[in-house]
Amino acid sequence: MKKTMTTSGGNPIGDNQNSLSAGARGPLLMQDYQLLEKLAHQNRERIPERVVHAKASGAFGTLTITHDISKYTKAKVLQKGTETPMLIRISTVAGERGAADAERDVRGFAIKFYTTEGNWDLVGNNTPIFFIKDPLKFPDFIHTQKRHPRTNMRSNTAAWDFWSLSPESLHQVTTLMSDRGIPKTLRHMNGYASHTYSLINESGERFWVKFHFKTAQGIETMTNAEAEAVIAKDRESNQRDLYESIENGNFPKWNMQIQIMTEEDAKNASFNPFDLTKVWPHADYPIIEVGSFELNKNPQNYFQEIEQSAFSPSNVVPGISWSPDKMLQARVFSYADAHRYRLGTHYEMLPVNRPLSEVNTYHADGPMNFSEPASSDAYYEPNSFDGPVEDKSFVEPPFSVDGDGYRYNHLEDSDDHYSQPRALFHLMNEDQKNQLFGNIAAAMNGVPREIIDRQLSLFEKVDSTYSAGVSKALGL
Ligand code: NDP
Repeated sequence: MKKTMTTSGGNPIGDNQNSLSAGARGPLLMQDYQLLEKLAHQNRERIPERVVHAKASGAFGTLTITHDISKYTKAKVLQKGTETPMLIRISTVAGERGAADAERDVRGFAIKFYTTEGNWDLVGNNTPIFFIKDPLKFPDFIHTQKRHPRTNMRSNTAAWDFWSLSPESLHQVTTLMSDRGIPKTLRHMNGYASHTYSLINESGERFWVKFHFKTAQGIETMTNAEAEAVIAKDRESNQRDLYESIENGNFPKWNMQIQIMTEEDAKNASFNPFDLTKVWPHADYPIIEVGSFELNKNPQNYFQEIEQSAFSPSNVVPGISWSPDKMLQARVFSYADAHRYRLGTHYEMLPVNRPLSEVNTYHADGPMNFSEPASSDAYYEPNSFDGPVEDKSFVEPPFSVDGDGYRYNHLEDSDDHYSQPRALFHLMNEDQKNQLFGNIAAAMNGVPREIIDRQLSLFEKVDSTYSAGVSKALGL
């Protein structure tokens, strides 16, 4: 037998088709609460769209650790043989919620691991690097990717103006404009935590770490022309592919790898290991295999499980921590804060965000606390009433800092903005280089000549054939 429909107060509903009116053709009566509730609820069916990473697909899966890395970390989630349930949300950055999937853009690669020690979130991208390295520039950078205030259209001029004035962006710009700038599907691209994090072992030793997730499906990409043909017919191409693959039992998989740097190595590295515009070269910091994850379950309700999902690098577990990476430091604050605004004070109580382990905080008040009421005199800390207490065994080992408090010029700290883009450029075959030149020329449509010239001079510093290739593609 079907269940009886109710109001949200649980009262049975007798008629959900006909409004209550004074006479068959007469006006409505104010007491028709079901009508009022339906209309009022409809007005509240959207929450603020994410400022960045608004359009996304998501799925649940399992992380399995197959290698022993206990000499680097005590984190239970990373011990050999451990299986951990997880959620992933893969997004474009600039487009709004209704944007087409097959656009040239960086993809967000956000993962929540529901570990036995609380949630561990990695909020990365499909690129190992980023456009900037000082978070003070982040809101300005995002303004250049969003709509122009007057035209309400995206602006190539704003994008290239900012990039040409920010030489640290060259590495990521080269990646974005390369063939990998439009992944064929979300299954055919890598994921990177991008930031440097730290691992801490049982002896309290700290190691700096990079996390990589390499697609087991292989890299596949689309040209601009192929993507345009896809978008003309299907704006949800990535969502459709991921959803249908999982529905059909074709579970995508990524191999998890790390790179390790000791604290001593970091002091002697030829580049700043906490600079988000740099990778750690594999030859110096070899890849270490860790395990893999598989995506095997689609969300049952997109809004509840993906739109309301909230990832934040503030969520770390014992044995995994942050680093001095300035961008990471800012994101530890800014991601959690975005969710407080978007979802509310108690966003981590929502089912999709709730850790599997017990949560014991004193943050009880504020809108929409929907945990079970607990009767206790311990509503502050310290207290004499057996409330939860700190455990000093979880205090992290110290990390050293030096220098005076100052606004250091971040471009001077590591002023080699060219050798890593050069290494990437030299990895490309002729076809990939031609795609790069053509993609840049297309993306520069309408940009004033002085901005183009400034950007060409940056490409020139990477490799003269890079600037020459772009100039030719521009018909200069
Ligand atoms: P390696 O040759 O050891 O590694 C190159 C890496 O680049 C591989 O991980 C490969 O990943 C990836 N790659 C290959 N072709 C392309 C391409 N056309 N576009 C983007 N990535 C590509 O060299 P290094 O470690 O010294 O790095 C050289 C350059 O490679 C870097 O400057 C950086 O631009 C890029 N890179 C480096 C990474 C790192 O962590 N060291 C990670 C990703 C890119 P895949 O297996 O997916 O092909």
